[in-house]
Amino acid sequence: IFILGIESSCDDTAAAVLHNGKILSNVVATQDIHKKYGGVVPELASRAHQQNIVPVIHEALDQAGISKNDLSAVAFTRGPGLMGSLLVGTSFAKSLALGLGIPLLDVNHMQAHILAHFIEEEGYDKPQFPFLAMTISGGHTQIVKVSDYFAMEVIGQTLDDAVGEAFDKSAKILGLPYPGGPLVDKHAQLGNPKAFPFPKPKVGDLNFSFSGLKTSILYFIQKQLKEDPQFIEKNLNDICASIQHTIIGILMDKLKKAAKQTGINQIAIAGGVSANSGIRKTLKEAENKYRWKTFIPKFEYTTDNAAMIAIAGHFKYISGDYADLGVTAKARIKM
Ligand code: ATP
Ligand code: FE
Repeated sequence: IFILGIESSCDDTAAAVLHNGKILSNVVATQDIHKKYGGVVPELASRAHQQNIVPVIHEALDQAGISKNDLSAVAFTRGPGLMGSLLVGTSFAKSLALGLGIPLLDVNHMQAHILAHFIEEEGYDKPQFPFLAMTISGGHTQIVKVSDYFAMEVIGQTLDDAVGEAFDKSAKILGLPYPGGPLVDKHAQLGNPKAFPFPKPKVGDLNFSFSGLKTSILYFIQKQLKEDPQFIEKNLNDICASIQHTIIGILMDKLKKAAKQTGINQIAIAGGVSANSGIRKTLKEAENKYRWKTFIPKFEYTTDNAAMIAIAGHFKYISGDYADLGVTAKARIKM
């Protein structure tokens, strides 16, 4: 089975080819244009997808060493995401599937982040059902009970900002370029996580909140800058380490609660923020501490990629769950 995956939900144009669940190619064209605006500009993203999609798919087929006629099916991200961005991938996938006379497979981007754990990779175990997945990304923060490939129940989520936004907005306050998450991570590795304590929000159940944290970081920095205009430069590593430490604490508290409530001790993380070195390390340590079995995705399957879309498509293909050619992109879709 050869599946082509196409991802265009936000600002990365990506294509990947999977053979029986194994990666043959995984190509991502990141759009640098958004950097100078400090965030994703939807109209520019859509235009860049249109420019990138053909070369990216060619590259994915070339690297896989196959021709488009070898494909068994085409999988694409239907949503959630930016409408203008989704439309590019959706229209292209539809035309390609129609032209080749092969099945079309519609994929939910958030399910795909989780299903990335099922890509055949040496040295990586696959979770067994049921397991808990914490999706931590630029637009989502959820705890999901995964009972089967496409049987997923959200049991907790953020009530305001996503954790990726918390990283990016904190970075912005510190004057770091967009997307700031990876930079906060980089500086955090050199700093003291206990240097500046930030309060954790009080939110019930398995839900999260990150907007208060952003505000308290902003006030803290403004206050310090009044006393010392060089405060950020002098303390960047410690500030980043402290922010990251607080965020990890918030995530771990809810994860522990979820594991206890459900009695499930297989824990996976997924989404862009699962690239964070501090989160990866903390989760690994939790294996012994709480007797969990943890699943940490390979680095290239954390942020947006098309391999995860292709693996989700692979399972849909096997079960004959094909999309209709009338399928449309959807900016918001439930899990
Ligand atoms: P969603 O998947 O919710 O639709 P998205 O696709 O835009 O959102 P992803 O690509 O999954 O999001 O993740 C991007 C986010 O991950 C950004 O907020 C980015 O800052 C964050 N991120 C990436 N690497 C790291 C890191 N090492 N540490 C912290 N955050 C990170
Ligand atoms: Fe994503």
